[in-house]
Amino acid sequence: MDRRLCVHLCCLLSACALAAVSGAPIQSAPVTGKFWHISDLHLDATYHVSEDHSQVCLSSKGHEALNPGEFGDYMCDSPYELILSAFDFMKRSGQLTDFIIWTGDSPPHFLVEKLSTDIVVQILSNMTSTIRKYFPELMVYPALGNHDYWPQDQFPNSTNKIYQAAADLWEPWLKTEAIKTLRAGGFYSQLVQPGLRVVSLNTNLYYSPNKVTTNMTDPAGQFRWLMETLESSRQNAEKVYIIAHVPIGYLPQCNSTTAMREVHNERLVQIFRKYGDVIAGQFYGHTHRDSVMVLLDDQGKPVSSVFVTPAVTPIKDASEPYSNNPGVRLYKYDPRSFGMLDVVQYFLNLTEANEERKADWKLEYVMTEAFDINDVEPQSLQKLARSFAGCRSEAFQKYFNHFMVSYDDTIVCQGLCKTRQVCAVQFLDSATYSQCVEGRLRSQGLDHNFF
Ligand SMILES: [Zn+2]
Repeated sequence: MDRRLCVHLCCLLSACALAAVSGAPIQSAPVTGKFWHISDLHLDATYHVSEDHSQVCLSSKGHEALNPGEFGDYMCDSPYELILSAFDFMKRSGQLTDFIIWTGDSPPHFLVEKLSTDIVVQILSNMTSTIRKYFPELMVYPALGNHDYWPQDQFPNSTNKIYQAAADLWEPWLKTEAIKTLRAGGFYSQLVQPGLRVVSLNTNLYYSPNKVTTNMTDPAGQFRWLMETLESSRQNAEKVYIIAHVPIGYLPQCNSTTAMREVHNERLVQIFRKYGDVIAGQFYGHTHRDSVMVLLDDQGKPVSSVFVTPAVTPIKDASEPYSNNPGVRLYKYDPRSFGMLDVVQYFLNLTEANEERKADWKLEYVMTEAFDINDVEPQSLQKLARSFAGCRSEAFQKYFNHFMVSYDDTIVCQGLCKTRQVCAVQFLDSATYSQCVEGRLRSQGLDHNFF
C-alpha cells in the first residue's frame, strides 16, 4: 500500500477510536502555524553616537552618519541595542511561534582588513548566543550569509573554519545528519515535524562576487544533494521550506541583474520548478528590502511562493536614494498542508525611535489585508503581481512603500523603477524576465538599450 495513504488512514482510525471511547469531539490541530523570520542583523560594535558624524560607525566607511541616535543610523549597521530591541519585541509580542528561521549576515559591512576569520566567528557566536538567550524554547534554523565569511563572499567548495564554527555553534538546534553536511558544505536539511522539512541552502556558493566557485558547475555538490533531498521528500510525502541568504531571481532595484550568478540561478530555478509540488515556501534575505516573487512553471502556471525579508540593519549605500527601516516578520502557515497563509511584517521607525529614545516596534502590514488576497500561496501572489500592472496601481505603490519598510512614502517608483520591480516579481529566469522588460519598455516607447 502507498505509505502516504497508510499514514493518513492510521491517523483517521486512531482519531475515530479516540472519539468513540471518550465521546468527546475530536481535538483539532491549531488553525494556523506561525514562525519568525529574521535576517541581516549586521552587528556593528563600533557604533556610538558622536558629535563628529564621520566617527559614528566603521560600517559607514568614512561617510557621515545622517542623524545618529541610540538605535542606529541609516548610514550604519546595527548597534547592539537595535538588535536587542528587535528580539525583545518578538519575545514580548505574545505570538506563539513554532520556530525561527534566520537567513544570515551577522558581521558588519567593514573594509576587509578590519575583519578576520576570528572576528567573523566571534560575531556569529555572539548572535547565536543572543538568539538562544532570548528564545531558549524555540528551534532556530539558520542559513549562512555572504558576510558570514572572511574575506566576505569567498565561500569555499569544501570544509573550512567557518563551516566548522557554524556547525559547533548551531549544534543545539541541529541533528547529526544536518551537522555533517553543514561542516562539509555549509548547507543542511532537517525535519521540523512529521511532514515538514527545512532545507537550508548555502547560496553564497553561487554568488557572483565569490571567486572561489566561479567556474564550478556544482560547487560543494549542493545541487546534487538538493535534488536527492527533494526527491526523498517527495517519496516521503514531506513538504519543504527552502531557506537561504542570497535569493533566486532578479534584483528588483537593478537592471537585468540576478542576485546570484545567472548560470546558477537558471539551474536552481529549474530544480525548484521540478519540485514545485514539494516546496511549500522559499525564504531569503540579502537584499535588505521587502519583496515577493512567484515562480512560474514552463506553462506560466504559478508553482512556488518566494519571500525576501527586509533586514534588521538600516544601512544604505551612500549612493542609494533610500534605505529600509529595521524589520522582523512572522509567517502564518496551514499546519496540515504547510501552505503559506500570510505575512505579518513588523518594523521600527528608526527616526522616531531615536527621537523618542524608545524602540517602539509596530505592525507595518498584514499581506492578505493590505492587498486583499486570500492567502500568500503562488496563485494569490500571481494575482497580486498582476494587480501591479496598471500605471496608477495603488497596490504597486503600497508594495513599493513596503519594499523600503516604510522608509519614505513620498518616493514614487515609476517608469524604469517600476519595470524592474514588476518584472522581478513574476519572472525568475533569463528568457521570461527579458521578455517582460522588453514588453514593458516597448509599451513605454523605450528600447532595451535604454534599460
Ligand atoms: Zn546583508
